Amino acid sequence: MDSLSVKTGKRQELRDVTSEIQQYISAKGFTSGVLTVYCPHTTAGITINEGADPSVARDILVSLERLIPLRGDYRHMEGNSDAHIKTSLVGPSVQVIVEEGRLMLGTWQKIFFAEFDGPRTRKVWLKWVSS
Ligand code: ZN
Repeated sequence: MDSLSVKTGKRQELRDVTSEIQQYISAKGFTSGVLTVYCPHTTAGITINEGADPSVARDILVSLERLIPLRGDYRHMEGNSDAHIKTSLVGPSVQVIVEEGRLMLGTWQKIFFAEFDGPRTRKVWLKWVSS
């Protein structure tokens, strides 16, 4: 297993990490298999969605904020319950098929690190299984 470091710059953001992950695959010389991209944090996750129009990432964050506001009927002492709940909705990981050394993503798809309680330096774990 390897890990990537991701520095986020805001409390909440969807950061496109596709090129970093593609660079990792190329540097390792991986050709055919599946890469698991896993976020080992309770207030950040990983998702795949449209990267061509940045408004999509913005709309996802704004909609999550409307559904799960910062302040609400929460009991968690840290005051970041919204971040925990958003993380559960987004999920901790994605699996991506790799063929001929390239991430097999749809035309408009990008891999996003979903930060919900930043800014922080975060980890992403990467596990390769070849086929
Ligand atoms: Zn917490």
